[in-house]
Amino acid sequence: MEITNPKHKKMIDDLLEACRINLPAYNSVLIKKAFALAYQAHKNDFRASGEPYFYHPYQVALIVANEIPLDDVSVVSALLHDVVEDTDISLDFIDKEFNKVIAEIVDGVTKIGGVFKGQEITQAENYRKMLLSMVKDVRVILVKFADRLHNMRTLDFIPPNKQRRIAKETLEIYAPFANRFGLGQVKWELEDLSFKYLNKEAYNELARKVKSKRKEREAYLNNFIGPIAEKLLEHGLKFEIGGRAKHLYSIYKKMIKLNTTFENIYDLFAVRIILENDDPNECYYVLGIINQLYKAIQDRFKDYISIPKKNNYQSIHNTVIGPGGRLIEIQIRTRKMHEIAERGVAAHWKYKESIHTKDQDLEEWVNWIRDVFQNASKDEATQEILASFKLNLYQDEIYVFTPKGDLKRLPINSTPVDFAFEIHSKVGYQCIGAKVNGKIVPLDTKLNSGDQLEIITSKNQHPNKNWLRFVQTHKAKQNIRKYLKKEEDKAVEAGKEIWEKKLKKAKKVFDADDFNKLVRKLKFENYQQFYKAVIDEKINPDEIINQTEDKSEKDDGQDLSFDKFANIARSSAGGVVVEGDHKGFEYKYAKCCNPIPGDPIIGFVIIGEGIKIHRKDCKNLISMAQNSPEKLVTANWPRGNGTYFVAGLSIKGEDAPGILNDISNSITSFKNTNIKSININANDSLFYGTIAVLVNDLDHLNRLIERLKKNKFIYSVERFDAESSN
Ligand code: MN
Repeated sequence: MEITNPKHKKMIDDLLEACRINLPAYNSVLIKKAFALAYQAHKNDFRASGEPYFYHPYQVALIVANEIPLDDVSVVSALLHDVVEDTDISLDFIDKEFNKVIAEIVDGVTKIGGVFKGQEITQAENYRKMLLSMVKDVRVILVKFADRLHNMRTLDFIPPNKQRRIAKETLEIYAPFANRFGLGQVKWELEDLSFKYLNKEAYNELARKVKSKRKEREAYLNNFIGPIAEKLLEHGLKFEIGGRAKHLYSIYKKMIKLNTTFENIYDLFAVRIILENDDPNECYYVLGIINQLYKAIQDRFKDYISIPKKNNYQSIHNTVIGPGGRLIEIQIRTRKMHEIAERGVAAHWKYKESIHTKDQDLEEWVNWIRDVFQNASKDEATQEILASFKLNLYQDEIYVFTPKGDLKRLPINSTPVDFAFEIHSKVGYQCIGAKVNGKIVPLDTKLNSGDQLEIITSKNQHPNKNWLRFVQTHKAKQNIRKYLKKEEDKAVEAGKEIWEKKLKKAKKVFDADDFNKLVRKLKFENYQQFYKAVIDEKINPDEIINQTEDKSEKDDGQDLSFDKFANIARSSAGGVVVEGDHKGFEYKYAKCCNPIPGDPIIGFVIIGEGIKIHRKDCKNLISMAQNSPEKLVTANWPRGNGTYFVAGLSIKGEDAPGILNDISNSITSFKNTNIKSININANDSLFYGTIAVLVNDLDHLNRLIERLKKNKFIYSVERFDAESSN
């Protein structure tokens, strides 16, 4: 596209000239192409002022080239910054005609503009952070600042209510944002322009007063600085000295703060001396020189070098009486202190809010970008640095809005469920759906910065295990887990209750071991799962109790083995008495039936081994006796003369308080029965054990058993024998 219109030719020449002066290198073909495209795209549009719309992107490009020069890509992006939003040119087209980087910058600028539409600015700090989170390329911010600056410079033509809204947004978001980026000049101008539209009267009055004194002030300043500079040179110091009138908005702020008039603001201009050597002592040396030249006001002296401000700001503030008796504030600092002072703006965030972990990065980055600005024309490598440079600040965060326009900060990839829990745990618990920018979306939708969300709740909704698969915030995860845990605890508790009731009803005893074995056998990971399965009716407790009856009876983990008990019982009974021909013969107890005192017994002769004592009902014995009845011999436990024999009781029940005492009382109070040993284990609210007692006969033992069974906490009492052991 050839530019033929002479007026346009002049415009493009001016722009290219600005690039030539301010940029280290530039592609004039690319800039011309962007110029032509912007002109074509906006051809039929006009600004509120009545001038062609195209003037706006052109002026923005000029601002970029002249006032915040970085590179030609920024200039091209500035020319194209409004075409995607306002015309039918697409990002794809820009990508194709120019390149991906330019398309991305244009996209970024467009998106930033969209964030604030229809939003009441209530949390300016968050908005500024949101801007950072959205911006991937530093040039997006530069173009946006230039865009805002030009809009502010031409704000006259739009309706007053809109002027105020834009001015407020500029003052609260863009100006501090610019300051944060080390763009001091842009910051001052944005502030002053905002001030102009927010408080026209005060602005005009101040502007008039300042203007009327400008020449006088400049002359005065030179007059004041001259002698100082001379002395410093004499002392061989390397320094920079400058004085500048304060900007209108900062004068205004000071007037409000001190509640005074313009005439009474003593430091309308401050003088700053920056010493190149990194030696704080030089600052005091210079202070001494100044105090010899001008009379200092004692109570206005501040030494922030020996006692730095909280944000590490270091400088000497000294107020002296200048020519004509006017007060002038002088700041004295080293270059290093000066740099820290500029970074101190970054520290502002650090100290105000603790949520930032990226401030270090941001500070480094702000320093870097300032270097780039300051050295743009010198640094040939800027282009290369920039090409590899991507902003990655706050890229792990997004900023979204409530329906009322409140801003919420969330981790990247957050979903409506995260947002709901961010509002309130109750909203999270009852979250059933969400609208993002007015459209209903699934709960696992990933949110983007700038989205506006509305959460739909229902009293019948509850957190879902699946939510854990997509939520991002700690808050959401914690709340969902808490809820699920509570629900599970409830189910486990209810399942346990049912299980224990059924056990009790069936008079079954399960100790911890039995229960663990059962849980493992049924392939549950833990007992909670088992109880939950009871509640969910995945298993039938009645069936399980019936099936495990025998096992439970046999496998009760009693400490006292039957063999051991049998030995004690037999020896304490005094062995057996073999009658008839075999009286006095060697005898042994048969392993197959293991008789103990009280059991009806009989002996069986085995050639070469002696006599084996069996129970009379031993199946083994009965079959042997059928073939050789002649080998049977009569045997008895010694009895009849008031002697006792040891009997074992196997006892199970609930571990109620005082149960052991109850048992021993029940036994000893019955016919003065003696307890030989007692062995009780409690586990999981149950107890089981063996008790060896001295009884006269089986009848004595059986009545004792009946008596113990009457205790409601005792589930079972049986004679301890080989059957109930092992
Ligand atoms: Mn614009």
